[in-house]
Amino acid sequence: MPDLNIPPQSARRALVIGGSLGGLFAGNLLQPEQAIRDLAMARMVDRRVLLLGDAAAIPRPHTAASTSKAASNALTLVRALERFPNDPDKALARWEAPQVALGRSLYDHGREIGDHLLFHRRPAHCAS
Ligand SMILES: Cc1cc2nc3c(=O)[nH]c(=O)nc-3n(C[C@H](O)[C@H](O)[C@H](O)COP(=O)(O)OP(=O)(O)OC[C@H]3O[C@@H](n4cnc5c(N)ncnc54)[C@H](O)[C@@H]3O)c2cc1C
Repeated sequence: MPDLNIPPQSARRALVIGGSLGGLFAGNLLQPEQAIRDLAMARMVDRRVLLLGDAAAIPRPHTAASTSKAASNALTLVRALERFPNDPDKALARWEAPQVALGRSLYDHGREIGDHLLFHRRPAHCAS
């Protein structure tokens, strides 16, 4: 067995992951870290072009709400188009504002959770 000089941190990763994938982590050939980005668009509609799901807003993973947000975007879009079958522009206009607000509130919520978990900062509404 060759001496791979594996640092303890990498060895722990290899133990948890196991198998040939674990070997890649142990040799530091794969890094499990992933950059976390967030996003909230101020607009989701431009004429007949629209953004929804991750294309419109990405809250941080701590919210565990991205998939339900994407589903909400889609389901409410269907309802809006059914409500105004002869006026898609009106349907999109009515649909957009609440969905932008949903994306923005999850974006803010995810940042608050992240600040709390990583930096022990209290959310503004809890500050005393
Ligand atoms: C590692 C990881 C873990 C996650 N865990 C969670 C979780 O626990 N809970 C949670 O709520 N969310 C989680 N998410 C986020 C969740 O997966 C996304 O928020 C959700 O899938 C967004 O749905 P979407 O339809 O907007 O995009 P996607 O699910 O990404 O769908 C976009 C689709 O478009 C296709 N596509 C891309 N470009 C083109 C093209 N040019 N032409 C045709 N098709 C194209 C893609 O192949 C894909 O199928 C996680 C994401 C990642 C990466």
